[in-house]
Amino acid sequence: MTDIRTREDAHTSGLYQKRPLAIVRGEGARLWDADGNEYIDCVGGQGSANLGHGNAAVAEAIAAQARALASCTELFYNDRRAELYDVLAAILPPELDRVFLCNSGTEAVEAAFKFARMTTKRARIVATMRGFHGKTMGALAATWGPEYREALGGDALLPGTAHIPFNKVEALDAAITPDTAAFVLELVQGEGGVRPATEEFAREAARICRERGALLILDEVQTGFGRTGAMFALERYGVVPDLLCLAKSIAGGVPMGAVAFSRRLGDLPKRSHSTTFGGNPLACAASIAAIGEMRRLDLARNARERGEQLLDGLRGIESPRVREVRGLGLLCGVELKENAGPTIKALQDGGVLALGAGPTVVRYLPPLVISAEQIERVLAATAAALR
Ligand SMILES: *Cc1c(COP(=O)(O)O)cnc(C)c1O
Repeated sequence: MTDIRTREDAHTSGLYQKRPLAIVRGEGARLWDADGNEYIDCVGGQGSANLGHGNAAVAEAIAAQARALASCTELFYNDRRAELYDVLAAILPPELDRVFLCNSGTEAVEAAFKFARMTTKRARIVATMRGFHGKTMGALAATWGPEYREALGGDALLPGTAHIPFNKVEALDAAITPDTAAFVLELVQGEGGVRPATEEFAREAARICRERGALLILDEVQTGFGRTGAMFALERYGVVPDLLCLAKSIAGGVPMGAVAFSRRLGDLPKRSHSTTFGGNPLACAASIAAIGEMRRLDLARNARERGEQLLDGLRGIESPRVREVRGLGLLCGVELKENAGPTIKALQDGGVLALGAGPTVVRYLPPLVISAEQIERVLAATAAALR
């Protein structure tokens, strides 16, 4: 471990706050560090490992496609890309029948903002406080968290971007004006502290946007692909957006992002947006295999059942240090009355890797293959950490 750490520290960008652990192997919902210690993974690649580690079908698909054809830009048609469009069409709301493929969550959000501006001919984006949409310049404008912008001088990155309080319908009603291109929303705020939207807020967002000619962008980069107990959280809310941003677990751990959108938006100007790696056959093959496995294993159902087990168990832990327990499916958070750091460290010492979500929230984002017995161990470790 010390060797790995020294070598990384010699050349790392220095942007990341790292824990002194080198993770070298995974299987299902378990991870091992370089010293051979085993952990239950409740970090889940920060949302990119819904399928679990070391899935054989995805590994085979990647290897076979790497041998057949890894690179093919959208200058040409490609068999794997065509197949992935079919696979996505089978799981997406039928209204969202066009898809732009890219390589990450923030890129999906960038693309959605551009598509919204180009098709509405309006400029302003409305977002929510505590929302997270990525850290490239455009997406960062919608991301809450003034701390991410401070070092840039604190200027507005996209002029006219507004942040309204989450779950406040009156604020939304006031913010969506004739120059609003889009409202961007997470149905469960992930990085912002594991906060589910109310059904009323989601429904009213769709209605207000529709009535005023603004577009609704749902950012399901973290909530997508089974996480909340349905393939997409929008199914749990009964809301269909105009644009849907996806990434993280879309391709079984291979970098990929996507924006699914409605044909109703009209045509996008040719060449107004593109990316070299978008829709490459390697990522498409990984995604086809990953989505196939998620459906075969019915991971949305496991997320629902194990999520209830986890949420009930967390609520049953009596500790004066807990303020509130929240979640949907296997996106769960414990908000403490204190900084979450020491509890996350205590969990790690107890064999469970968990995440923060803002300063006071412990977030659980395990692979959706996690078993009932593993959830019990997570609960026992949490109870011990909060004692
Ligand atoms: C992680 C995340 C993003 C950014 O995705 P990257 O792939 O890290 O750029 C955007 N939106 C949400 C909701 C996320 O959780």
